Amino acid sequence: MHAPNSRNKTPLIQISDVTKVYRTGGAEVRALDGVSMTIDRGEFVAIMGQSGSGKSTLMNILGCLDRPTDGKYTVAGTDVALLSSDELATLRRDTFGFVFQRYNLLATMTAVENVELPAVYAGTTKSERSRRAQELLVQLGMGERAAHRPSELSGGQQQRVSIARALMNGADVILADEPTGALDTQSGADVLEVLKRLNAQGHTVILITHDPAVAKHADRTIQISDGRIVSDSGAKTRASSSETGKPLAEGGFAIQTEVAEAMKMAFRSLRANIFRTALTLLGVVIGVAAVVVMLAIGDGSKANIVSS
Ligand code: ADP
Ligand code: MG
Repeated sequence: MHAPNSRNKTPLIQISDVTKVYRTGGAEVRALDGVSMTIDRGEFVAIMGQSGSGKSTLMNILGCLDRPTDGKYTVAGTDVALLSSDELATLRRDTFGFVFQRYNLLATMTAVENVELPAVYAGTTKSERSRRAQELLVQLGMGERAAHRPSELSGGQQQRVSIARALMNGADVILADEPTGALDTQSGADVLEVLKRLNAQGHTVILITHDPAVAKHADRTIQISDGRIVSDSGAKTRASSSETGKPLAEGGFAIQTEVAEAMKMAFRSLRANIFRTALTLLGVVIGVAAVVVMLAIGDGSKANIVSS
């Protein structure tokens, strides 16, 4: 996805003059209006603003869940506008982990099954998935609750499960949209501690909040109002951040040729979409068989006419 040799020099996240316009019916809402910023690996940034200021819109663009109307967004040097929707989905899956205010856990699945979900789409084997999901739940103090459904867990516990889910595919960047918004003070403080710990382990954390008391846990605060950045406290200089930074997706800094990388991605994609691949093959087989049969019928009737 990203050229391995450009990973350390280029900023992790860079948006330039990004605009997002929503058109609903006749009305037009300019949710983001010329936003530019750079976030480096290992930063812990709070994006703060009142309700309706454009925070979630910005998070959706940063997390490649949505595309800007205008402007440029690069992730580790890759211009996301140049990616196909499949490539964008891969980038999203392998680079970003999402945490939402309402946890967004599936009610019919247990904690461990919820955590495993992102790896299903990544094509990881069932046993490897379960092992990693269980390990993440243990790390988040939820090992004992792995078999519980969301309805049997408190808000704070559900949020920890959702953080484990966010970490399932690595999550170089954790995007948390009001992660403490639905929690009591103590559970909220616990979640912020978890985010701090993950940041110390090398994850880049982008925390979205309307609450200055929450934002102050971050190293840097970017304030947004009416879709524009009105202040940015700037990156805290941390000598260690680039060295302790986790490598990007697995296989991180290994030197691979572009071709080898492309082959790996192609096979991974084929494996992850095994059903689609099988259907496509079936379609090709039916198509070829149909042509053969038609030719045979043609030959048969010609022979019939000639011999009659
Ligand atoms: P915040 O997360 O800071 O509360 P949002 O990014 O959700 O703000 O919204 C910014 C503005 O864009 C608001 O005026 C909101 O009503 C509008 N908006 C957000 N999403 C949509 C959408 N899908 N369609 C139309 N308008 C939207
Ligand atoms: Mg919001």
